[in-house]
Amino acid sequence: MRTCWTLFTVFGIPVRAHLSVGLLALYLLFMMLPNLGVGLFLAAALLVSIVLHELAHSVVAMAFGGQVRDITLQLLGGCAAITRMPPKPIHECLMAAAGPACSLLLAALCWGLSRTFPAIYQDYDIYGRLVTVAAPNLWLSVAAALNLGLACFNLVPAFPMDGGRILRAGIQCLGKSKLAATEIAVEVGRAFAILWVALCVLSFVGIRFHAPADWPQAIAYLWEIVFGGGGILLLCVAYMIWVSGKRELEYVRYEETYYGGWR
Ligand SMILES: [Zn+2]
Repeated sequence: MRTCWTLFTVFGIPVRAHLSVGLLALYLLFMMLPNLGVGLFLAAALLVSIVLHELAHSVVAMAFGGQVRDITLQLLGGCAAITRMPPKPIHECLMAAAGPACSLLLAALCWGLSRTFPAIYQDYDIYGRLVTVAAPNLWLSVAAALNLGLACFNLVPAFPMDGGRILRAGIQCLGKSKLAATEIAVEVGRAFAILWVALCVLSFVGIRFHAPADWPQAIAYLWEIVFGGGGILLLCVAYMIWVSGKRELEYVRYEETYYGGWR
């Protein structure tokens, strides 16, 4: 059964959607019920933001001699399949930092634009009555919060997330071997995975972490997405970190054994 479709190609990189990205969209719609409009907007804004984030990684990777096969949108966001990594740790560090940097820029842009619109505006409904409607201001600040969340989440030093890659490259720059640096980064990643599973268990037994009432609405939406739903999203991320951290460690060990760890 076909599970992946190519949406479009940009800079020669095919952007593909995996079937599971539909689950992510459904999750967002469900979490935002009965506010279907916000859910739909969040799903669309998230997918666009993720594509731009992954494109930033890809463009920097290619600039340093890396090779990108494709970008795939899936349940836990996006993944740029980089088939040949830039050789130097500092290049890997810049490649990993490019994604969150792009998300931060988008957040600043959306927030700046949201300031230019009024918070609410008045319009006439079909009966000619004057009504107050939410302005693009809210949507833009939601998009800003989304990108800020994307940047912060990816900067958590849990390998193989961007923050973990920056951590590994940083340790290598301090003079450790790639294997030693990977071992440390994977251990830190596992500590985060355990913390998230603990948060999910607390959430499951009914201890919920609510966003303070005086926080902006856009941040409250984001909070609900990450910590709501019984912590299912955090559980998926914890699993992904555990499995891909283990896989990367095995790969680097193999590299070290057969090629003498040339990096
Ligand atoms: Zn990233």
